[in-house]
Amino acid sequence: MPELPEVETTINGLKNKVLNRTFVNVWTDIRKIIKRPISFNLFLKELKGRRIKGIRRRGKNIIFELSDNYSLLIHQKLTGHLLYGIWENRKGRWLAEDSRLNEKVNSYIHLIFFLDNKKMIALSDLRKFAKVQLWKNNELADSKEFKSLGPEPLDKDFNFNVFKKRLRKGAIKEVLMDQKVIVGIGNIYSDEILWEARVHPLRDASKLTQEELKRIYLSLKKILKKAVKAKGTSISDYRTITGDEGGFGPIRKVYQRTNKKCFYCGAAIERIKIKNRSAHFCPNCQKLL
Ligand SMILES: [Zn+2]
Repeated sequence: MPELPEVETTINGLKNKVLNRTFVNVWTDIRKIIKRPISFNLFLKELKGRRIKGIRRRGKNIIFELSDNYSLLIHQKLTGHLLYGIWENRKGRWLAEDSRLNEKVNSYIHLIFFLDNKKMIALSDLRKFAKVQLWKNNELADSKEFKSLGPEPLDKDFNFNVFKKRLRKGAIKEVLMDQKVIVGIGNIYSDEILWEARVHPLRDASKLTQEELKRIYLSLKKILKKAVKAKGTSISDYRTITGDEGGFGPIRKVYQRTNKKCFYCGAAIERIKIKNRSAHFCPNCQKLL
């Protein structure tokens, strides 16, 4: 699933292309992707003619700020990623002008937004779990799901004290991935952060020492910034809006490196299950005690 660095990269890419453009039409072959309003026709009617005034990220959500106080929210979920270009429908298949956008991983086109400059924003989504909603700004700000989101880890206000106060009981990996605690962190970056901080993923967050917490806090800032700079991780389906791979995959330290050597001590990286997720860690550098 795209995490903070991937969503941030998508937004930075789109900002350069679609600001001040207007939505002129929408196509989809899976109407259930549109969650709000439930009726696709109503969604289309309310979106058409609205101009993109800004684009921002909240957690893993992409938010297009539209004219007339509307917001278009897109959560890419497991395998979704937004692309930008020109597609043409040939015998029921969408083909892009740019050949990179026709690569397999970018070819699961299930939703297209048509803009007033003849360009398009398309959603490629193999598993079809992405979520699209059109909101009135005030209703979005008041929504339960938005109010429950934790703080942004790269905000200046997110200092060590805020971080400490947000934590709860439970395996530290799970706590870091809990969007109510902090937003934007998922499977990849929780593994990377905990390896960097030398803390075992199963350690109880409420029982970590000050020193360990400090290491996790600093690693969190460092890794997320580094991953944004590298334009995210493309080990799975994620690609930038031009269909290119992000650069963090080749420089990662533990995620999906089971049995490979730890870059710090040389021990073999292990993989364990935490509920339905996998955690990757070095059994030597990250001790359970
Ligand atoms: Zn190690």
